[in-house]
Amino acid sequence: MIAITPLASGSSGNSYLIRNNESSLLIDAGLSGKQIIERLDCAGVDPCCLKAILVSHAHMDHIKGIGVLSRKFKIPVFINEKTFVAAEKTLGKLYRRETFKTGKIFEYAGFKIHPFSVPHDCADPVGFRISNGTARFGIATDLGVATGLVRNLLTGLNAVILESNHDPLMLRDGPYPWELKQRVRSRLGHLSNDQSAQLLQSIVSDELRVVILAHMSETNNTEELAERCVRESLQAFLDQNGSIFCATQSQIGPTVEL
Ligand SMILES: [Zn+2]
Ligand SMILES: [Zn+2]
Repeated sequence: MIAITPLASGSSGNSYLIRNNESSLLIDAGLSGKQIIERLDCAGVDPCCLKAILVSHAHMDHIKGIGVLSRKFKIPVFINEKTFVAAEKTLGKLYRRETFKTGKIFEYAGFKIHPFSVPHDCADPVGFRISNGTARFGIATDLGVATGLVRNLLTGLNAVILESNHDPLMLRDGPYPWELKQRVRSRLGHLSNDQSAQLLQSIVSDELRVVILAHMSETNNTEELAERCVRESLQAFLDQNGSIFCATQSQIGPTVEL
């Protein structure tokens, strides 16, 4: 069994709780330590039991609470070298650092973990493909464009957590300064609803059961727009009882079991 629970998702903080029959870990911890602890409590998980925090990249909305959680609860932090160098000041001292190599699969706590490269404006950013031998899911939440590598690594999964960051018209007409708009829509920025829908359409398979739409901008998107856009292009998936959920900034869940 693998259970996935989004603890928070969006431009103000990201964290996902991943459990198998024996262990729990976090992917990113981009809220304050206190907020993460509160949200873990809502999920019924004692932070002392976390076996690891995996780090996708060095942006603050992914790393804010990692240092304090690692020190306080003695949690090892799995991170690649370039991300560590970029994040070191924010992280502070860690209980333990484990360095992974982007592209190299490693096994830990009953999970097989494949960190893969994504195009994003940060040092060596990664998504993850994770399995326990039977169930498989993938996560890619900060990427400007779907590369062939991303598409390959997100194919053949039972669940996918994919960014659906912005509605292009809301971004164009919204309050962000021009430079930030350019950054978001660049090849190293974030996927729009349409880009996410296109990528999903290309990775959908009989094995795929659940799509979690993530990292939605609170300024430039709405759950309704993102879901509608993706639903329209995944009709066959929905006809076969596939599920689409939105992970949100304000609350945890839903928990998806594979
Ligand atoms: Zn980012
Ligand atoms: Zn982010």
